[in-house]
Amino acid sequence: MFSNNALKEIYEKYREGRLAHAYLIETNNIPKLMNDLKNLIKAINCPEEYQEKCNHCNLCNLIDKDNLPSLVMIEPEGTSIKKSQIEELKIAFETKPIYSKYNTYIIKNAEKLNGSSANAMLKFVEEPTDGIIGFFITNNKDIIIPTIKSRCQSLVITYESDNFLDKLNITQDELNNYLKIIKEYFTNIKSNQLLNHKNSILSKIPERKEIETMFKIIFEIYYQYFLKQMGKPYNKELIENYDLKENKEEIISKLNIITKFLQNLSYNVNIELLLDKFAIEMRCIHG
Ligand SMILES: [Zn+2]
Repeated sequence: MFSNNALKEIYEKYREGRLAHAYLIETNNIPKLMNDLKNLIKAINCPEEYQEKCNHCNLCNLIDKDNLPSLVMIEPEGTSIKKSQIEELKIAFETKPIYSKYNTYIIKNAEKLNGSSANAMLKFVEEPTDGIIGFFITNNKDIIIPTIKSRCQSLVITYESDNFLDKLNITQDELNNYLKIIKEYFTNIKSNQLLNHKNSILSKIPERKEIETMFKIIFEIYYQYFLKQMGKPYNKELIENYDLKENKEEIISKLNIITKFLQNLSYNVNIELLLDKFAIEMRCIHG
């Protein structure tokens, strides 16, 4: 019934009458988790004996259409989750649900709760009311406000994926932004702007984690270009903006340089030194 063991366990707890009142779930794939979570909420609330894709009952229909009043999803408005959003949730949950067994709230990107909205939220998690279940969803539970975190049952759900964006845990917009930075970076390396090349990265993405993501994308660009050279299917979107001229041997050498860079990056080597070394090695290879 569940593609996911952690959610299956929550369902088992429900059957035993031992549901927690709030769960904090860290995941590498929020869209996929939201989908699985919907199935869990159907299973818990469905008046029929739940089967996957029940859909024939009124309640499952409403959940599918995001139209069930007792299921409230809160996501950041702009950069944060606002106190007013939590106040609205409180009012909505003052009454018992009509169609479902539970009032359920989902806080998407819960790390975006700011001081005042997190305080407003504490009422639910500190003095749990029977019949209300909450799910706090995040891709990094280390940055969740501790007062919330300590009152939730915490779990991690990791999805395997062959999708490039999922693997890197970034959105299409974020990828586009990285691609822009990479394009400028490549131009700087090619024209021997050895002073500029570092600044063009470090001024925009100072975090080590972001630099790692950027170089994983660079790896993927050369790898896709390699597939193209081999006459294999490749991701056109990723390489169309780069003027790549390397032959197969040169691509393999560059892939090795990138792999070495990523390894060193994980060893905590000074980042400016690494970037210098990378640019010099890449320039030594034609293309
Ligand atoms: Zn149903």
